Amino acid sequence: MRHRNKAAFIDRDGNLIHEVGYISSLKKVKFYSRSIEALKLLKDNGYKVIVVTNQSGVARGYITEAFVESVHKYIDGLLKKYGLKIDAYYYCPHHAKKAVIKKYLIDCDCRKPKIGMIKAAQKKFGIELKESFMIGDKLTDVHMGKNAKMRTALVMTGYGKKEKLLIKEAYDKPDVLAKDFYQAVKLLIK
Ligand SMILES: [Mg+2]
Ligand SMILES: [Zn+2]
Repeated sequence: MRHRNKAAFIDRDGNLIHEVGYISSLKKVKFYSRSIEALKLLKDNGYKVIVVTNQSGVARGYITEAFVESVHKYIDGLLKKYGLKIDAYYYCPHHAKKAVIKKYLIDCDCRKPKIGMIKAAQKKFGIELKESFMIGDKLTDVHMGKNAKMRTALVMTGYGKKEKLLIKEAYDKPDVLAKDFYQAVKLLIK
């Protein structure tokens, strides 16, 4: 199979939308101030935009998969006004230890920093990972990107500032540190 598309894999909470713990209501879904601009820049440069998000709140019994999906529909609705679209959303509802719902108590291969979500998207969209990158506010995001041999950015929104302090000890470092999602895109696009 030929992989011809380039993609921006993006973390959701703390990068695209505000980090608010486990989102419990659609009212809490808010874009960061430059998220729309970031998405425009990606589209203008021919990138597929793919959200990859760990949602262990499902495993922990705080939220349901249906709710996760309603958040994504809600985001789509907001983006429509700008003529923008997320190409796909991938989420991991599992947790190997903290799941209270049995079917989610598995050591899956989709929870970041594992790359199951990247692999699924790569297959579906024919993505060339060398031309792609991963942006997020946690080192888990960086590690997933690196595990998939992509360039990565750590953003300073969400948990970014705290996570930045851990870079020294981390086995993989982000290629760039960015103030936010928009700056990360600016620095990573070719
Ligand atoms: Mg995050
Ligand atoms: Zn999973």
